[in-house]
Order: sequence, then structure tokens, then C-alpha cells
Amino acid sequence: MQTSHPVVVAGAGLVGTAIARELSARGEKVILIDRQEPGRGTSFGNMASIAINGFDAASRPSTWKKLPFWMMNPQAPVTADPRHAVRMIPWFLRFLAAGRPNRMREIEDAGASLATRALDDIRKLLADMNAPSLISDATCLQLYETEQAFRDGRDNLELMKRYGLDYEVLTGGAIRAHEPLLTRAIVKAVLLPQNHFITDPLGYVTRMAEDMQSRGGELLRGDVARVERDIRGVTAVLLKDGRRIESDRLVVAAGMETADISRAMGEPIPLETERGYHTQIMAPGGGGDLRYSLIWPERAFMVTPTAGGIRVGGSVEMAGLHRPPNWRRARILVEHAKFAVPSLKVENTTEWMGHRPATPDTIPVLSASAGTKGLFYATGHGHLGLTYSATTGIVMADLVMGRTPSVDLTPFRIDRF
Ligand SMILES: Cc1cc2nc3c(=O)[nH]c(=O)nc-3n(C[C@H](O)[C@H](O)[C@H](O)COP(=O)(O)OP(=O)(O)OC[C@H]3O[C@@H](n4cnc5c(N)ncnc54)[C@H](O)[C@@H]3O)c2cc1C
Repeated sequence: MQTSHPVVVAGAGLVGTAIARELSARGEKVILIDRQEPGRGTSFGNMASIAINGFDAASRPSTWKKLPFWMMNPQAPVTADPRHAVRMIPWFLRFLAAGRPNRMREIEDAGASLATRALDDIRKLLADMNAPSLISDATCLQLYETEQAFRDGRDNLELMKRYGLDYEVLTGGAIRAHEPLLTRAIVKAVLLPQNHFITDPLGYVTRMAEDMQSRGGELLRGDVARVERDIRGVTAVLLKDGRRIESDRLVVAAGMETADISRAMGEPIPLETERGYHTQIMAPGGGGDLRYSLIWPERAFMVTPTAGGIRVGGSVEMAGLHRPPNWRRARILVEHAKFAVPSLKVENTTEWMGHRPATPDTIPVLSASAGTKGLFYATGHGHLGLTYSATTGIVMADLVMGRTPSVDLTPFRIDRF
């Protein structure tokens, strides 16, 4: 399948960069294009967690029950801007349809096919790039403030059991013995021994891009405007400044903006942005010596020692791509974090907002185009782009090179919508 043209990958986030790196590691000529430096989009600000247990179907009866409360409460972990709500209706109807019991199981089987190998794939990638220090030895604690909240979260424990993932439930003194900095308000915690975290999310993307370049791949600054095709399939990629790059294989991995390109190609992907926030705390000794990353599902936030400090973030805000950030969302998360870790020193901070590209059925699109030969899509990684990054690189490289992918990609096809 190798031709004289390079493979073009549009979008140098976690997803596109992992694909471009894997293709160069396999000897393909690659051009990775982004309008900004690699990893400066959504991939810049994630919570760094290799969230092996995070593949539950987002649409489920327990979510639906909470929706009215969330919509009425601006402090809720999930909010929707009323001005955006009408535009979201088609996506939301698909989201509800994805919550049928049979469909939920299919979605979780598909998520598990990526998640259960994700840690091994990331470790192997880091070893291949000689960058083992980009992954922490530390793991993650999932926190519950009440017995009721713990019971409400049992779906996730059942999910882990079903797919053979390890966890340990901690109570009382055992919680503080693991993490002395935690508030006594936590009554239950679940230790997630496989959920390591990346020590520097931007550094991870940068390292992949450098590794790709060291193997002959090219990094090009540019804005992809259009795809040229004829009866044979893709023929070239056109940039906004008029440059034309001849290629017969293009992977579109442009995060949220993949939707614009796929629509122009006549095969729209229903993507919504789930806007999320972080605050990076760089106060010396700001988090004390946190031993774990912390996730608090009821309040939808995480605290992770990463990027040289402590990062507090999470939240889901359905407000479209273009409205300005509502920094109150970030500050609510910091208040939650101070409650969880009373010694947290919030000084020397920066705030950030990013767009998780979310499909209505939770799982990404990892697919050849249904209509154009040589065109491929990788997007919709939602809350798990970092977790699925290395695995996405592997399976998309398989697809682009015409090999049978090592994961069955049928559930991730673009024409499932
Ligand atoms: C607050 C928050 C916390 C998160 N925490 C985690 C976590 O702990 N674990 C986890 O696994 N995931 C997490 N995620 C999700 C993860 O960050 C995303 O799934 C992931 O970053 C998506 O990567 P991407 O490459 O698809 O998109 P992006 O990183 O947005 O990359 C897309 C790139 O395409 C470029 N681009 C777009 N259009 C064009 C064009 N026309 N021409 C050229 N370039 C273009 C953009 O400049 C951008 O660089 C989190 C997300 C958020 C917001």
C-alpha cells in the first residue's frame, strides 16, 4: 500500500501526533500539519490521567435522572448554556438513543477493547521514545463523600469487574493511610492501581512530535482548508494560504474541527464540545506531597500532580465552540479541590479551557471514510483522548497501511451514525 506520496495527518493533538509518530516508526513518509505547535489544542490542558476505568457509556438512566438538577444549577458538574441548547438537540437525541441497555453494552465492549490495553500501549510507546519518566509510578484514588454517592457509583465498579480491571475499596483510616492529605469528609475511596498519570501532558505530545521528526517525519505549520479528491480518492490537501500538498492518504485528526472537514466531504460526524477547565497551581509546595491523583465523580473534578505543579480540573459545559470561557467554572473546581485537600495552597495559578470532542455514543471515530478512498478519521475521544492516544496511533496506522487492525474497529466506523 506504500506509495511515493507522504501520508498527511491533519491535527497535531494527542491523537494526530500519536498516529503520525506510529506511521513514521513503521517507515512511512509522514507530514503532520497543525496551525499551531503540537499539543496546544485540547490536548494541552487535560488532567493527565490514564483513566483505564473511564469508558462507561455516558448516556445511562443514572445520568438522565440527574439532568434536570444539573440544568437548574449553575454550580453543577454538568451545565448547558440555554443559548446553545437548541443547536444541541440533534446530538442530544442521539445521546439519549445511546442509552438503550443493548447499545450501552456495545459501547462499553468497544471502550474496553481500547481501554484494557491502553496502559501497555502507552508504556511501550514511552519506552520506544526513551521517555519512561513521562509516566508516574503513582496511581489514582476515586473519592466518595457519602455511602449513597458510593452506591450511586457502583455501575463503574461493576464495569471494572466485568472487564477484569483491578480495584480496591478503602474505608475510614485506610483512606488517610494511603493519602494523608485528604479531608476526613471522604467516607469511601476506590484505589485504581492501573490509573497512572502522565507527568507532563504537553511534554508527551512534544516528545511524540520530536520522535516522529527524528524518524524523518515532517511537521508543517498550516491551516487545512480543503481536501481535493477525484474518482480514485484523495489527491491533495489544500491549505488556507494556498499551499497544495499532494497525497493519496489523509488522516483527519483535528479534534472538534474534524466535523467541519467531514461535513465538507459529505459524511458529517455528530461532534459536540464538552468544554472543560483546569487551574494549574505552581505555588512551591502547593499540594504538599500528594501521593495520588484524585478523582471525585459526584463533583466531576480531578486533582493531579502534573506539569511541574498541581492541576485541578474537569467539569462539563455544553456551550459550543465560540462562547468565551466562564472562569467561574474553573474556580468552582478549585473550591472543591480545597475541600478535598485542605492544605492545598492556591497561588501562582493559570486558568485554561478546552474542548473535548464528544460523540453522542461516547466512543471515538477511528475509521476509513465511507465514501473516499485514502481518507481516514480519528476524533471523538471525548474524556479519554490521552488514555486512548497510543492505542489510537497503533490501530490507525494499521488502517492507513491496509493491515488488519489489532482491535476490531467495526464499532468505531464513521457510518454508524
Ligand atoms: C479539562 C479536561 C480534562 C481532560 N482530562 C483527561 C484525562 O485525564 N485523561 C484523558 O484520557 N483525557 C482527558 N481529556 C480529554 C483529552 O484531552 C482529549 O480527548 C484530547 O485532547 C483530544 O485530542 P485531539 O488530538 O482529538 O484534539 P486536539 O488536542 O484539540 O487537537 C486537534 C488539533 O487540530 C488542530 N486543527 C484543527 N483544525 C485544524 C485545521 N483546519 N488545520 C490545521 N490544524 C487544525 C488544532 O490546532 C489542534 O492542535 C480531558 C479534556 C479536558 C478538556
